[in-house]
Amino acid sequence: MTATQAQVHPFDARADALLATLRHGGQYKHLQTLEGPMDAEVTVRGYGRCLCFCSNNYLGLANHPEVIEAGVRALRDYGAGTASVRFICGTFGPHETLEAAIADLVGAEAAYTFVSCWNANEAVFPTLCEPGDTIISDELNHASIIDAVRLASVIKKGVNKTVYKHNDLSALRHQLETTASQNAVNASHAAPGAGRPVTWVVTDGVFSMEGDIADLPAMRRLCDEYGAVLVVDDSHGTGVMGHTGRGTHEHQHMFAPHGKPGPHGRVDVFTGTLGKALGGAAGGYVAGPRRVIELLVQRGRPTLFSNALPVTVACSAAKAIEVLVREPQRVARLRDNTAYARRRIREAGFTVVESPTAICPIIVHDTAKAIAMSKRLLELGVFVIGFGYPVVPEGHARLRVQISAAHSHDQIDRLVDALRKL
Ligand SMILES: *Cc1c(COP(=O)(O)O)cnc(C)c1O
Repeated sequence: MTATQAQVHPFDARADALLATLRHGGQYKHLQTLEGPMDAEVTVRGYGRCLCFCSNNYLGLANHPEVIEAGVRALRDYGAGTASVRFICGTFGPHETLEAAIADLVGAEAAYTFVSCWNANEAVFPTLCEPGDTIISDELNHASIIDAVRLASVIKKGVNKTVYKHNDLSALRHQLETTASQNAVNASHAAPGAGRPVTWVVTDGVFSMEGDIADLPAMRRLCDEYGAVLVVDDSHGTGVMGHTGRGTHEHQHMFAPHGKPGPHGRVDVFTGTLGKALGGAAGGYVAGPRRVIELLVQRGRPTLFSNALPVTVACSAAKAIEVLVREPQRVARLRDNTAYARRRIREAGFTVVESPTAICPIIVHDTAKAIAMSKRLLELGVFVIGFGYPVVPEGHARLRVQISAAHSHDQIDRLVDALRKL
């Protein structure tokens, strides 16, 4: 905006005031720039070579030669893209190959890709929910779920939303119970032949700030009891959790091929990202029953009005999945590295949250302290990010250490040495 007649435009004044508040409050983010590929070691502009412990490159596939080659080849074979949305002329063969690979990986009937998991979540709820439905969501769910649920309730008036205390099954039961009674009241004065409302329960598989996991078998039992649909965003679990890296549901004995239930039941609908363990470029997906995918193709606004995942990414992500399935030792190595890192960090006297995931939050309480520690670590050649208020509640600031199969024990030792110097 431009100032006219020496008057500051109201937007300029407001924006400058907000930015000043962030700067003074120590909440202003300074983005680091990498001068080479993501890997166990990266080159950070202004800091040189650093050990990277803040990426979601859990399996070390972001810079894998086969993953790179698959992307390069796709660019040569297909060009940059279709310059079209998918329902017009926007799907290449590799999109279909990737979607079949994703469905097989998580054990669903079908899958559909999006340019991000953010988009995938924004496709799921506004498309699948109808007025009268209720969405019940964990309070620590990812921002993309929160916004997707809000969007559903705005796009379709009469979609209800409620939040339960993090990982608290009795709170979830209470919400299911309340929803069931409300539905019974509504049904008593509904028009004859009116459709019955659907209850949706949505959770992260692995929670990104705590590094803890949802109790999916228990949630499945509750969903069965109340006839609810279970939706799991496993962005931090895919490639990480479970014996062969299929996700948090595999870790909890809920994996079976083609949408069948595992020993502890099944997840109805998965969402996830290709921007973490599965190559790390970008992209997201929904995997689930064929009718869910069909509805998303027919009615999802992010699919009808936005282009497909770039074909280079479709090919590099499909290759990443191929490597994951072919080399389960990567998942085993990640598990081993994570256990090793947790033990060493604890031995160094820090409080690290216990869990089976590759996210190791070191609790330091104070936001300014977390930010100062991460700055000092970078000077010591270790790239770890500090998170404070408002990303996590006041007093719960932390350094979030993320482990990768690409790390060596020696590199983890160097992380711990740097932590000791703080
Ligand atoms: C990272 C993350 C996302 C966002 O994924 P994008 O593909 O980058 O949009 C969504 N949900 C969860 C749970 C995540 O951890």
